Amino acid sequence: MSISSPATREPILPWHRAAWQQLQAALRQRRLPHALLFCGIRGLGKRHLAEQFSQALLCTSPGPEGLACGECRSCHLVLAGSHPDRVVLGPDPAGKSEEIRVDVIRELIEDSSLTAHAGGYRVTLIDPADHMNLSAANSLLKTLEEPVADTLLILITAQPMRLPATLRSRCQHLLLHPPDEGSAVPWLQQQGLGVAEALLVLRLAGGAPLAGLALAQGEHLSQREDAFKGFLGARSRSADLVRIAEAWAKLDAGLLLSWLASWLHDLAVLQVGDGEARLTNPDKGAQLSPLSREIHPTELQRILGLVLRLLRLKDTSANWQMALEALLIDWAVAGQH
Ligand SMILES: [Zn+2]
Repeated sequence: MSISSPATREPILPWHRAAWQQLQAALRQRRLPHALLFCGIRGLGKRHLAEQFSQALLCTSPGPEGLACGECRSCHLVLAGSHPDRVVLGPDPAGKSEEIRVDVIRELIEDSSLTAHAGGYRVTLIDPADHMNLSAANSLLKTLEEPVADTLLILITAQPMRLPATLRSRCQHLLLHPPDEGSAVPWLQQQGLGVAEALLVLRLAGGAPLAGLALAQGEHLSQREDAFKGFLGARSRSADLVRIAEAWAKLDAGLLLSWLASWLHDLAVLQVGDGEARLTNPDKGAQLSPLSREIHPTELQRILGLVLRLLRLKDTSANWQMALEALLIDWAVAGQH
């Protein structure tokens, strides 16, 4: 499902409703700020909301909820990605660096000194805003000190603290929260997921529905399943630890370690008797439960410490497979005294 750029006519996502109403009220009362900072964890659809709102601002006949009509000339231009009063900035897809550089911001500033081409609003989206380097951010700050009427800048970021405090303080913040499971699971079901799978991917994605949906659609779950077999299998006497390490070494290191950390964390949750309701991996409760009784909590913490250490070493390790083998050897005998 492509839910972000280019702007679409999709309905407002249920967990965006309050934010949408807040934006619409500000627009009606003519107190829309010059700069908005959309923040919240990855996978909540911050970009989608920014796209929808910017299209609505430019639309010449918005509908009852303030949504863009999708049919006027302005909407056609937005949908084609060629509206002169709507600019989307991000890292150069062809560039080596993920940085948003100062020349891109300077170009934007020179361009925005002109008034809107169509006589209405002029909107700029910067996503992810935390990818601006310091000189780009400083350059942008200057424009916010002398804002032009009817211009709106939307900065989008999952990591607002990476932006200079001076820039953050010039923006009105709009923080998106993950919806509760009671409303996110039915939404995922509407996208075609079963209830158990919906709950699982939602937990794995830290509560972010779009990130959860992406997990369900990719190879993530099958890779996680294989890695989990190795995690359990390593505890049996006949385990071939070298083969498990070999398979693990082929996986994305950050992903593998985040799974390992979450399984170990769930073992600790089961040890303190919180039950399966609070597990990050609700599908693994039945298999983790007996294991949680086998391993001493101190040992569990020690292994978790080793996983976190590997997380710091993953990009510099000379022999990753051997590092994983060493972890597996520790894990295989953990708690067996
Ligand atoms: Zn329209």
